[in-house]
Amino acid sequence: MQALKYLPEVVTLELDRSKCEGCQTCVIVCPHAVFGIENKRAVILHRDLCMECGACALNCQSEAISVRSGVGCAAGILNGILRGTESSCECSPDS
Ligand code: SF4
Ligand code: SF4
Repeated sequence: MQALKYLPEVVTLELDRSKCEGCQTCVIVCPHAVFGIENKRAVILHRDLCMECGACALNCQSEAISVRSGVGCAAGILNGILRGTESSCECSPDS
């Protein structure tokens, strides 16, 4: 199955590699394989696969990751799926 991508370059995910200790927790907890490890530190491999769930930032003990979870179009798509309603991020001009 093809991986679900969201709109390109809109995710709020940020990684500060200078803080990374290479524990690999973000690689393990991310459901979309966004992270990898290069030269003993995390790297973002597939930014546009991020659904802003927040699991990586929550579990990074080095506070090297930030992401605004529960906001934006990714959250809107997920809420639509969970509620069985039309997906909406509530950012349309008439909302
Ligand atoms: S969880 Fe944090 S410290 Fe661990 S590899 Fe990922 S970014 Fe680095
Ligand atoms: S917010 Fe969720 S989907 Fe995005 S990189 Fe972190 S764990 Fe992966």
